[in-house]
Amino acid sequence: MTAMRGSLAGPRVLLRRLREVMAEPIGAQERLDKIVGLIAANMVAEVCSTYVLRADNVLELYATEGLNPDAVHRATLPVGRGLVGLIAAEARTLNLPDAQSHPAFAYLPETGEERYHSFLGVPVLRAGRTLGVLVVQNQSYRSYLDEEVEALQTTAMVLAEMIAAGEMEDLAVPGADLDLNRPLTLAGASFSDGIGLGHVVLHEPRVVVTQLIAEDTDLELKRLDAALASLRLSVDDILARGAEAGQGEHRDVLEAYKMFARDRGWTRRLNEAIQAGLTAEAAVEKVQSDTRARISRQTDPFLRDRLHDFDDLANRLLRELMGRPHGPIEGDLPDDAIIVARSMGAAELLDYDRSNLRGLVLEEGAPTSHVAIVARALGIATIGQVHDVVARVEPGDAIIVDGETGEMHLRPAGDIESAYADKVRFRARRQEQYLQFRDQPAMTLDGFEIDLHMNAGLIMDLPHLDESGASGIGLFRTELQFMIASSFPRLSEQQAFYKSVIDASGSRPVTFRSLDVGGDKVLPYLRAQAEENPAMGWRAIRLGLDRPALLKTQVRALLKASAGHELRLMFPMVTEVAEFQRAKAIVERELAHLKRHGHAIADSLKLGVMLEVPSLLWQLDELLQTVDFLSVGSNDLMQFMMASDRGNTRLSGRFDPLSPSFLRALRKVADKAAEAGVPFSLCGEIAGRPLEAMALIAIGYRTLSMSPAAIGPVKAMILATEIGPMRDHLHNIVEKGLSGSDVRTELRAWADSHRIPV
Ligand code: PEP
Ligand code: MG
Repeated sequence: MTAMRGSLAGPRVLLRRLREVMAEPIGAQERLDKIVGLIAANMVAEVCSTYVLRADNVLELYATEGLNPDAVHRATLPVGRGLVGLIAAEARTLNLPDAQSHPAFAYLPETGEERYHSFLGVPVLRAGRTLGVLVVQNQSYRSYLDEEVEALQTTAMVLAEMIAAGEMEDLAVPGADLDLNRPLTLAGASFSDGIGLGHVVLHEPRVVVTQLIAEDTDLELKRLDAALASLRLSVDDILARGAEAGQGEHRDVLEAYKMFARDRGWTRRLNEAIQAGLTAEAAVEKVQSDTRARISRQTDPFLRDRLHDFDDLANRLLRELMGRPHGPIEGDLPDDAIIVARSMGAAELLDYDRSNLRGLVLEEGAPTSHVAIVARALGIATIGQVHDVVARVEPGDAIIVDGETGEMHLRPAGDIESAYADKVRFRARRQEQYLQFRDQPAMTLDGFEIDLHMNAGLIMDLPHLDESGASGIGLFRTELQFMIASSFPRLSEQQAFYKSVIDASGSRPVTFRSLDVGGDKVLPYLRAQAEENPAMGWRAIRLGLDRPALLKTQVRALLKASAGHELRLMFPMVTEVAEFQRAKAIVERELAHLKRHGHAIADSLKLGVMLEVPSLLWQLDELLQTVDFLSVGSNDLMQFMMASDRGNTRLSGRFDPLSPSFLRALRKVADKAAEAGVPFSLCGEIAGRPLEAMALIAIGYRTLSMSPAAIGPVKAMILATEIGPMRDHLHNIVEKGLSGSDVRTELRAWADSHRIPV
C-alpha cells in the first residue's frame, strides 16, 4: 500500500477554479460535471462522483468523472447501504485504501467501479444536515492525506450551497425530489393545545454566509483572529457583568464558553479551513456543520450539551465576523410566524408580538416549565422536546404545529395540509359546542357542581374570563408583570395593574398570588445569589419574608386596588406554618397602616396558602386552623414529591401525577380540608387536563383553576361524568391495586366505556 503525494495544485487553487465555475452562466448539470472534473484533476483522482440525497432517502448519482457516464441519474443507493449510504447515514468521512474489503461495500455494476481500490468520501453538509455525498477514488491502494480530506470537505461546502440554493432541483427525475424539500414529521411533547399553521422563524436566526471562497487567505486569517479576540472579550465581559449580578446557572454556561473560546482544537480547525481556501465565515460554518453532525450522532447527553455550547459559540463568532448583533430576532415578526428555538425563557416569549405568532416549537423544555405555562396563557400552540429541530428547519419553511398530538409537520404535503384544514374546522366546531355550554354550570350527572376558574397573569388574559365562562380567577400569577418589566414596577404601577384586573373580573372572585420569583422565574433586574438548586432555593415567600419591603409594597398595592371588593391573597412555596403567620402579620400591619391613614382599602380579606411543598402534608391540622383557604400547586408539589425538576426534559413524563402516591397525597389534602371546613382548590396544570381533572373530582376536589382554553374540555368531561361510581372505581385501583395496569390506563378505559370525553 503506498501513500501518494498530496494534491498537486492545492485546495486553494481548486477553490479558485470552482469559484469561476460557479460564476459561469451554464446549466446545473454542466456546472456539476465541470466541478467533479476539476476535483478529480486537482486531487489526481481517477474518479470523482457526487451523490445527492433524495426525498425517498435514496442517494442518486448526479455527476461523475471516471465512472460510467450512463450511470448518472440511474445508479442509486438507499441511505445506510454501501459506503456512500454509510457516509450519509452517519454524516462522517470514510478514508479507505481498500474499499472493497470494507464490510459495507456494495458493488454497483452499472458504474464500473470495480477497478478502483482507494476511496475517500465526505458528507455534503449544511447546518448539520446531510444533503449528499462527494467521493474520489483511485485504482491504487492509497490512503488519502489529511490535507486532501480537508480539501474534499471544503469543496463539499460549495456543493451544499448549490443544493441549498435550489440549483439541482431541475435535474431531479420526476418523482425523485431532493431531500431538502422533503416533508418531515417530527414528534415531540404537547406543551400547549391548539393548531398552528405558518412559516418557520428561528428564535436565534442563522447567519447566512454567501461568500465562501477567499480572495486573500492572509486577510481571512487576520479577520478570524480579530473576531476570536473580540469574542473572548465579549464572553469575559458578560461573565464579569454576570458576576456582579450573581447569575447562577447561566454562569456555568458562560464559563464553558470561555473555555471553548480558547479551545486550541477548535481554533486549529478554523485556521485549517481558511488555509484550505475558505473565507473566515465559511470556515466557521464548515466547522460548525461538522459539530452539528457530531451532535446528531452523539447519544451521551453531557457530550451533546458540550457540542451544543460549541454550536452557540460558533453562532456568536459568525455574528462577530458579519457584524450582526447577538441575540434573538429583532423587528417585526412576519405574518403567521411559528418560532423554532432550542430553548426559551418565559420572558423572551412575552417579548414577541403575539398578533403574528401562530406557534412555538422547542427542542427542549417541559410542559410545566414557565415558558409552556405562558404559551398556554397566550393560547399559542406549542410543542417541545423535538429532537434536533433547529438544525432540520430552514427559515421560511411551511410548518404545522399540532399542540394536540405533540407533532409538527415540516414542508407538509398537500394532503396533510388539507387534513389540517379539516382539523382546524373540526376544532372550531368543538369550540362552538363549548361556547354553547359556556354559561351552563359544570354539573356532573349525579348533581355535583364543580367550580371552574382560570389561571391568569397578564392583562391580555382578561378577555378570556368572558370567553371561557370561568367563574373567576383561581390563580393570578403576579410575577408575570414583574417578568416583562425592565425594572421593578412601582407601587402605583402595581396598584393600577391589580385594579384593572379586579375591574375586568367584576363580581367574579380573583385569587392573587404574591410574587413567586426564583427558580426558573428570573427578574433581569433582581440581584440574586448563584444557587446550585434554584427551584429549591431562595424563592417565592422565602424571598418575600427576607426582603419584606418587596412584599409590603405588593400587599399595599393589592389592598388599595381592592377597595370595594374582597381581597383574596395566597402565598407560594410555604414550607412551615410559621412562614404563613409571618406573612399574615405583614399583611395585617399594612392593613392597619392604611386604615390609620384613611385610605380606601379592601372590604374584606381572605389569606391562603399554596400547598406546593410536601412538608405541609404533615402540618395540615395546624395549617387548616390558620388559613382562610388552600390551593394545591400541583406543578411544584409534584416536582418536590418526586424529586424531579419540572423543567427537565429528560424527567418530564417519567413520573405520572396519576400515580397512587401522588393521588393519595392530594386526597389527604382534600379530606382534611373538607373535614376542617376550609375551602380548597387545585391550580396546577393537571387541573386543565380532562383525564386528570376527572380523577381530581373523584377524590373530592370541587374547585379547579386552569388555563382558559382548558375550561371547555374539562366542562365537557364533567357534564358526562357520574362521580359516585367513578370514585369507587378509582379507590379500588389506587388502594386495592385491583388491576394489573396503571391508574392512567384504567381511568382512560373507564372514561371510554362511559363515553366521557377526555
Ligand atoms: C404550581 O406550582 O402548581 C403552580 C400553580 O404554580 P407555578 O406553576 O406558577 O409554580
Ligand atoms: Mg408553583
